[in-house]
Amino acid sequence: MEWRVAIVPKMAKQLISDGQEVLIESGAGEAAYFSDLEYEQAGASIVKGTQLLYSGVDLIIKIQPPQRHEVEMMKTDSIYIGFLAHSSNLSVIQLMVEKNITSFAMEFIPRIARSQSMDAISSMASIAGYRAVLIAAQHLGKFFPLMMTAAGTIPPAKVLVIGAGVAGLQAIATARRLGAKVEAFDTRPAVKEQVESLGAQFVEMKLAKDAETVTGYAKEMTDEFLIEEREIIGSRLAQNHVVITTAQVFGKKAPVLVTEEMIKKLHKGSVIIDLASEQGGNCELTEPGRTIKKYGVTICGTVNLPSTLPVDASRMYSRNITHFFRHLYNTKDGAPDFEDKITKDSCVIYKGEIVNEMVKKALQKEGTNTHD
Ligand code: NAD
Repeated sequence: MEWRVAIVPKMAKQLISDGQEVLIESGAGEAAYFSDLEYEQAGASIVKGTQLLYSGVDLIIKIQPPQRHEVEMMKTDSIYIGFLAHSSNLSVIQLMVEKNITSFAMEFIPRIARSQSMDAISSMASIAGYRAVLIAAQHLGKFFPLMMTAAGTIPPAKVLVIGAGVAGLQAIATARRLGAKVEAFDTRPAVKEQVESLGAQFVEMKLAKDAETVTGYAKEMTDEFLIEEREIIGSRLAQNHVVITTAQVFGKKAPVLVTEEMIKKLHKGSVIIDLASEQGGNCELTEPGRTIKKYGVTICGTVNLPSTLPVDASRMYSRNITHFFRHLYNTKDGAPDFEDKITKDSCVIYKGEIVNEMVKKALQKEGTNTHD
């Protein structure tokens, strides 16, 4: 279920003042509390029916990757901007190629200073990190903060955050705001300082020197490293009430960092929130989209958490995608400038061809597998 909307009325108004005509599917903003009337007041036109909308526009702005039936409705030679999730959406991408649909993917916007206002991966990760802590607090049978009451002093909850990227850092900040004692771990040494600046303790281990790619993402770790890492995480588990896992490697399956054996070491009543659930999960027992209880531990396989905070998630995404659209098309000649890094890296399909190496390789691999 998707509760967010890609463009909120305020951003529709800005696009219209740029000279664009904006069409919104009737009811698109309802779940995020943006009414058709607000869009109309912003100057947008409301279209009833998806088919009518898709077949009438030259450019589609979306959040969730397009599904086959949606691409079938899109005009040939049109433009798509939104998430593409290529690894699980290859046949749809192939159809977009056949229909010559120029496509820009939010997840391929390079994480550079200049693109920060367009970085939807970061804004959505930040929401997920925040929400993860609230879900944990809801499932945990004890207080997060230290409580000094007439009925006695209650020590604060202890939280372990694995992976201190955007989501992890927001989880640390939120858990700290709620008064928990937090420790965190990441393979990128660069994050130690950030973790400590939020008042959490950084769990030390011998970190690989080249753990980070030039773009700032974590590299995939060797099996030997992961064995050592699991030992260190395992030694911390019994001391924590909540474990929030966020470890991901861009374009790959998430590493398994908490095995079934390790879960047995947790206190009964502990909670694991697995934010890497959609990429296979950091916890061996995670079931994406489900909350289960095993060995007395609640394990939440969270899916699409940003959608559970639809008002602000829509506002943030809408701002990101509006900046991105302007970057691509508010150019001197109104056409994307492929000399520009943000434009070049984020483009997946152009003139009926896949222009992104990662997607090209995935399609070639898929082709090989299909012919086996
Ligand atoms: P991500 O979602 O890809 O991964 C989450 C975290 O998991 C990362 O910190 C990663 O190092 C960590 N991780 C991966 N494997 C691990 C393992 N085996 N054990 C423990 N931790 C592991 O990361 P993200 O949140 O998208 O951000 C990654 C980085 O991208 C940022 O910290 C930053 O350097 C960079 N970034 C740059 C900009 C910018 O300059 N505009 C914006 C956002 C992010």
